[in-house]
Amino acid sequence: MAIDAQIAVIGGGAAGLAAAISAAQSGCDVIVVERADRLGKRILATGNGRCNLSNAALDTEQGSAAYNDPRFVEDIISRVGFREISEFFTDLGLLIHVDTEGRAYPRTNSANSVVDILHNAISLLRITERTGLDIKRITHNHQDGKLVFEILADNGQTLTAAAVILATGPDIIPIIDVELEQHRLEPVLGPLHTQGVAQKGLNGVRVRCAASLVQGERVIVREHGEVLFRDYGLSGIVVFELSRYLQPKYEVSLDYFPEYSHDELRVLISRRLVQLSGYPVDRFFDGLLHKRVAQAIMRSLDYSSRTPIENLQLTRLVQILKDHRFRVTDGPTRAQAQVMRGGLATGGFSSQTLECVKLPGLFIVGEAVDVDGRSGGYNLHWAWASGIVAGRAAACRTVANDCVTTREESR
Ligand SMILES: Cc1cc2nc3c(=O)[nH]c(=O)nc-3n(C[C@H](O)[C@H](O)[C@H](O)COP(=O)(O)OP(=O)(O)OC[C@H]3O[C@@H](n4cnc5c(N)ncnc54)[C@H](O)[C@@H]3O)c2cc1C
Repeated sequence: MAIDAQIAVIGGGAAGLAAAISAAQSGCDVIVVERADRLGKRILATGNGRCNLSNAALDTEQGSAAYNDPRFVEDIISRVGFREISEFFTDLGLLIHVDTEGRAYPRTNSANSVVDILHNAISLLRITERTGLDIKRITHNHQDGKLVFEILADNGQTLTAAAVILATGPDIIPIIDVELEQHRLEPVLGPLHTQGVAQKGLNGVRVRCAASLVQGERVIVREHGEVLFRDYGLSGIVVFELSRYLQPKYEVSLDYFPEYSHDELRVLISRRLVQLSGYPVDRFFDGLLHKRVAQAIMRSLDYSSRTPIENLQLTRLVQILKDHRFRVTDGPTRAQAQVMRGGLATGGFSSQTLECVKLPGLFIVGEAVDVDGRSGGYNLHWAWASGIVAGRAAACRTVANDCVTTREESR
């Protein structure tokens, strides 16, 4: 019996499109099914509309350390690293530029260009596109001794294929008759909700500092960069990074002077206390700190604007400037997060091909797998790289099995 396509890709996001293109480039008849009205919608929102699509640092030995499961990811990125992704896009017609921190963007600085180029490839490679089709479950059986997947949509339609690449992002579809371990979904790479007197009046203020996630005196992770204060908490890329390590009872510590040691800052502040003695306290931080941050610090230390500068306590001041604590009440919400951690556990899939150990012919890519990375292009890189690897592997499997599609039969 002929099938609808050799390979069906479920989900037309970054991972699904890369998988479909690589499978079709390997000579397969491919169909992409997407529940939204068009392919690649989420890509448009990435990198603030600029699409930070990869990172040059991936080609260093430390590349896989940017992910939650480095051992699993290493096998994939050693095959499809930054150089291969650059070539993949260049071959499709997209020029790429890399900024000083290794982040790769389309040269046009527009995520639209990435989606356009992927669309062009889909059409040039004659990949069948089925949008507006919400897949509810996948079953499998054997016909003429060959494995056939049946893909059932909510409108009652059924598609058949010899291999399936699951690229649905965090929304995993039930695969009937195979038990696959799934990890709880958790939003990461987003702002942290915090509490404290200091926060009042800081909404919208940005400061360059070092931000750490701490438990008591233990530093879990420390990042340097810009923090954006929000009325509900702390935001900005460095805080997004911290959110990947959040556990209950952790706090955020801001060091407003990371380039000064504790002792150096003590010398600076004590000189200033002498120099400005006699002045009102609101002059003390002029030229040192953002005015509203300075006011927040004064509030935290219970100083009023009438406190004379000579009454400020050196030790308390230095302590809070190097270690300003914020109690974390919650991590990012799903809507605030860039990525969902969790999904299908990596243990059920080959790290060489992304094929399901229990059900050969089923492949998993992108955010559907429990893999997440730092911000800076690592998550899209995983989506493309896992898609390319699985697309090629699925093509090898279907070509080896000599699967005939209805399209080929009618030729
Ligand atoms: C605001 C924002 C900015 C980001 N910026 C960056 C960045 O600059 N760099 C970076 O590396 N990462 C970034 N990310 C993360 C990045 O977008 C994701 O890691 C990546 O898009 C995951 O790709 P995916 O294909 O696995 O999943 P998705 O992009 O979620 O694609 C899954 C697709 O499957 C479809 N689907 C789901 N269920 C079904 C179903 N039942 N039937 C049919 N179709 C279905 C969905 O509609 C969707 O189109 C950002 C994320 C956000 C939210």
